[in-house]
Amino acid sequence: MKLRILGCGDAFGSGGRFNTCFLVEESGTRFLIDCGASSMIAMRKFGIDPNSIDAVLITHLHGDHFGGLVFMLMDAQLVSKRTKPLVVAGPKTLAKRLGDALECLFPGSTGMTWRNDVRIDAFEDETEWTWGPLSVMPYRVKHFCGAPPYALRVTCGGKTVTYTGDTEWVDALVPAARDADLFIAEAYFRDKAMKFHLNFETLMQHLDEMRPKHLVLTHMSRDMLDAMPAFPPGVRMTAAEDGMEIAV
Ligand SMILES: [Zn+2]
Ligand SMILES: [Zn+2]
Repeated sequence: MKLRILGCGDAFGSGGRFNTCFLVEESGTRFLIDCGASSMIAMRKFGIDPNSIDAVLITHLHGDHFGGLVFMLMDAQLVSKRTKPLVVAGPKTLAKRLGDALECLFPGSTGMTWRNDVRIDAFEDETEWTWGPLSVMPYRVKHFCGAPPYALRVTCGGKTVTYTGDTEWVDALVPAARDADLFIAEAYFRDKAMKFHLNFETLMQHLDEMRPKHLVLTHMSRDMLDAMPAFPPGVRMTAAEDGMEIAV
């Protein structure tokens, strides 16, 4: 499995980073985990053909995690002239929120006849969602976004990657991330507690319960980026950067 970080920033462009978007390639399938508002720009910058994406998994309905779908669908229709189907899975009401966003940003767009089929599925709490070689277990987390937010444990080709999405600490992160080959975790602040978000110190306190093989820190605020903590010895840990490739 290969992961390419197309965006690891927060919602506000801290550090000049793109909004959340992770590209995963495995078993001849390419899928995105989250597609934040800037994801089309990131795909163009890193030379990723949007038509090569088979599926998109969405953790929660904030613009920096799903807003790029608006531009991806418009690009598919008007620029990339996509004909192959796209599968999108995310929280309940994703279809409605995406339709509302499309209509808000590109009035009349939802009345178009689309060139390609777009299937939008809804995750159910701790219920396996499968498509092609992908298996996804969504764990409910705690983050206010008008729809159920999830951490996603994604298995494909015998490898597992877990992403926390945005959330304060919840115990569901333990089964979500336990023994994962790759665990991408929000580390918004170093030790400052903030409702609905995770900090580095809290993650470290729980690391023994999860024992991921490789931890990647993402969604870092300006404060965190300016004062990156020392990583504990014996733990494989990486601070995400846009464009970084990670073999899983
Ligand atoms: Zn976010
Ligand atoms: Zn969020």
